[in-house]
Amino acid sequence: MAGRKVFVMETSTEGTGTGADSPTGPAAAPPASLSPSRASDFMQCPLLYRFRVIDRLPEKPSEAATRGTLVHAVLERLFDAPAVDRTAPRAKSLIPGQWDRLRETKPEVAELFADDPEGERLARWLGEAEQLVERWFTLEDPTRLEPAERELFVEARLDSGLKLRGIIDRVDVAPTGDVRIVDYKTGKAPRPEYAEGALFQMKFYALVVWRLKQVVPRRLQLVYLGSGDVLTYDPVIADLERVERKLLALWDAIRQATETGDWRPRPTKLCGWCDHQAVCPEFGGTPPPYPLPVRAPQSGGTEQGRMGPD
Ligand code: SF4
Repeated sequence: MAGRKVFVMETSTEGTGTGADSPTGPAAAPPASLSPSRASDFMQCPLLYRFRVIDRLPEKPSEAATRGTLVHAVLERLFDAPAVDRTAPRAKSLIPGQWDRLRETKPEVAELFADDPEGERLARWLGEAEQLVERWFTLEDPTRLEPAERELFVEARLDSGLKLRGIIDRVDVAPTGDVRIVDYKTGKAPRPEYAEGALFQMKFYALVVWRLKQVVPRRLQLVYLGSGDVLTYDPVIADLERVERKLLALWDAIRQATETGDWRPRPTKLCGWCDHQAVCPEFGGTPPPYPLPVRAPQSGGTEQGRMGPD
C-alpha cells in the first residue's frame, strides 16, 4: 500500500530457495521469515504451509477474505479525516472508492462477481461490508482516537536469527506512553475455549514490538466486527517469552520439514476451507513434485504441527 509505514530492525528477503552449495550439493533453505498467518498455517497443517509458502500454489479469492480487506481499508482511511468527521456515514461513503481501489490493485477479486451480471450479489456483499463498518462504531469511537500507526509493517530478528514480520492494523499510544495494539476481525469472536488461539497473533505482534522498541505493549485488543465483541489481553514479559519459545520450536519443525521434504497433511474440519484438496493425499490427490533438494528424514523425529498456538 502506498505510504505504508515500515518499522524494521533489519531487512529480509521473502520466499524460499536453495542455500549455499555444500560438498554434497545445494541445501534446501527454509523461508526467510515467519508471519502470524504462516505460523498458524503450519500449526493447522504442515502440508498446507508447504503448498502456500514453498509451492506457492494459487488460491482463489474468497468473498469473506476480500470483504475483510475492504473493511480494513475503509477503517484505515477514515482516520485521514479530522476527528469530528469520523462518522459512520462518512465511513460507509468510503466503501465504493476503496472497492474500486482494491479491484485496481488486485484485479483477481473481480472474478468473485463475474457470474453476477445484474450486480445483485455484489450489492448484497457491499451491504454486508457496510454493516460491518457500522458495527465498529458501537465498539470504538474514532472521534476519540488518534492512532500512532495504521497498517504498520513490522519486522524483527530474534537472537536465534529467526525473523518475525507482520502488519499491525492499528497502534495507539497513550499520553503515559502505554502502547495498545489493535486488530480488526470481520468474523465472529471465538468461543472462550478458543480465545488463546485468537490471541496468538496479537502476542506475536507484542513480541515483535517488544524486540523493536523494548516496550511491552500494555494491551492487545481484538475487535470482532462480525459479532460485535472486543477481546482484550494485557500481556506480561513471561507471555512474550513463552510465545518466543513456541515460535522457535515451530521454526525448528519448519526447517526440518524444508530439508527433508516431509510435510504431513493434518486433516481437520478446516480442510473444508482449503483450496488444495485436489493435490492433498487426504483427499486422494498427489502433491506437485517437491521443488527443493531434500535429505533423508531422521528416524524418531518430532511430530509436526502439534504444538498449540500459545
Ligand atoms: S486439505 Fe486439509 S490436510 Fe490437505 S492440505 Fe488442506 S488443510 Fe491440509
